[in-house]
Amino acid sequence: MPCYYHPDRDPIAGCVECGRLVCAECAMEENERTLCRKCYERRLARSATGMYGEERKDPVVAALLSIIPGMGQMYNGEVAKGLILLFIFIVLLMWMLDLTPWF
Ligand SMILES: [Zn+2]
Ligand SMILES: [Zn+2]
Repeated sequence: MPCYYHPDRDPIAGCVECGRLVCAECAMEENERTLCRKCYERRLARSATGMYGEERKDPVVAALLSIIPGMGQMYNGEVAKGLILLFIFIVLLMWMLDLTPWF
């Protein structure tokens, strides 16, 4: 198996995040661990923009997260909290649109 990014070079290490083999040029050191270029860049982006760093790269997800309450929580694994917020949002929306069957 050659370097993931250079098919003609021998790898010196494997990325601890994704397991890809990387050559000396592609290996990135972080806290004495070896990361490939992609994982290193992803880490930098994540630490630069906080925990929402990855979501911000996807405009569709970012839009959904900002428009619909609860989506952000569900996306972060807080499903119960997200469902409650989503339920409140739907009830409020129906109330505003005069769609509630129980009033
Ligand atoms: Zn990697
Ligand atoms: Zn390489």
